[in-house]
Amino acid sequence: MGFNAFSGEAGQDFSDLLKTTPASDARGNGSDSAAFAAGFSDEELEAVVGPERRWSWIEIDLSAIRHNIGVAKRRLAPGCKLMAVVKANAYGHGAVQVSKTALAAGASHLAVATVNEGIQLRRAGIEAPVLVLSEPPASAIPLLLRYRLMPSVYTVEFAVAYGEAADTHGVRAPYHLAVNTGMNRIGVRFDEAVEFARRIGFHRALVQEGTFTHFATADCAETLDFTMQLRRFNETVAALRAAGIDPGLVHCANSAAILRYPETHMDMARLGISLYGFHPCPETRGYFDLRPAMSVHARITAVNTPPLSEGVSYGMNYRSTGSVKICAVPVGYADGFVRALSGRTSVIYDGRLCRQVGNICMDQCMFEVDLRSHGTARRPDPHVGDEVLLVGAQNGVAVTIEDLCELLGTIPHELCCGLSMRMPKVYLR
Ligand SMILES: *Cc1c(COP(=O)(O)O)cnc(C)c1O
Repeated sequence: MGFNAFSGEAGQDFSDLLKTTPASDARGNGSDSAAFAAGFSDEELEAVVGPERRWSWIEIDLSAIRHNIGVAKRRLAPGCKLMAVVKANAYGHGAVQVSKTALAAGASHLAVATVNEGIQLRRAGIEAPVLVLSEPPASAIPLLLRYRLMPSVYTVEFAVAYGEAADTHGVRAPYHLAVNTGMNRIGVRFDEAVEFARRIGFHRALVQEGTFTHFATADCAETLDFTMQLRRFNETVAALRAAGIDPGLVHCANSAAILRYPETHMDMARLGISLYGFHPCPETRGYFDLRPAMSVHARITAVNTPPLSEGVSYGMNYRSTGSVKICAVPVGYADGFVRALSGRTSVIYDGRLCRQVGNICMDQCMFEVDLRSHGTARRPDPHVGDEVLLVGAQNGVAVTIEDLCELLGTIPHELCCGLSMRMPKVYLR
């Protein structure tokens, strides 16, 4: 395939590299401008998109995002709003693209972790309500008001500063009250929420647009702690109402709770990991048809035929059996292809699983094409430029993010964030 879908939205923003002409570089550092070929136009240089600069990229299938929104929407009662959690660059999938897709598919709200993540969405022209999932430092208040980003609130000092700044500028200061019902991360403790709301309630600019909590164990088999958090949250909301305080949009469900516990859906639910196609826990497998949106691609950059017993990569803890080709691909642990996977995963080449061998390097890794193990099947013949899948499915074989997480003892959230650190993204619509 070509790379027409490439958005230029890489994990890192290299756009400034394109704006500086070689000639101005030369002036800047005093070197000889004759050393540069200045005759290339910016358009010509920009046309060399990410995967043509380095042969590795992530594909994000936006139709999978739409599909997963549909799975969640069908689970929610009509009228229950859906908040797409797009923090950490949409778990590595690209915040702007995912947000636009999720909103078009039926999400009404977005959630981010940081003020900068919110600003990025606004600058991309996204108008939907954006909730920042924690309370930023008070010094960030001008940005919240300028970009209409709703903070989570749980300290009186922040709330008052926020309300006063809004008042000064003649605008409202909407927020969601975060309630700590037992996770003990952030939020006003559940039994102090009414008192807290009363203490800040005098401020005319402040508007409590929502009240939420977060579950620590909605994805766990054991339900005791979950049940306690849910009970505390329901009691808190009831107590707020009894005190004459409008809690606004009441929400608590993450992906696991959306899929497992309909009683948590309330006014709105926050879809994170399952938006990207992953099951929050083994219990939901088989019940919901989620589709992973991310796959990881590369092209072979070198093919070696090491003789029997020669080693491969740092440490040489793999040795050639003499009838293998060793192929290098430009994906390493600095691309989130975690070094602890060394020798433990496979890549898909030509529709077959091939063992990744040798230690994964910072920027490259190697895999083995065994020339004997294919019986009467067509003999594999790897070449520089051939495409390889490091995560994805082809020809009935698959390597999934979840497989890799199993090996690593981590969760897809973490692996996806890492994989988007440096590899450019190609979007499939
Ligand atoms: C990250 C986050 C979510 C999304 O959780 P998933 O398990 O990925 O669905 C929801 N709510 C809060 C407060 C979060 O921090």
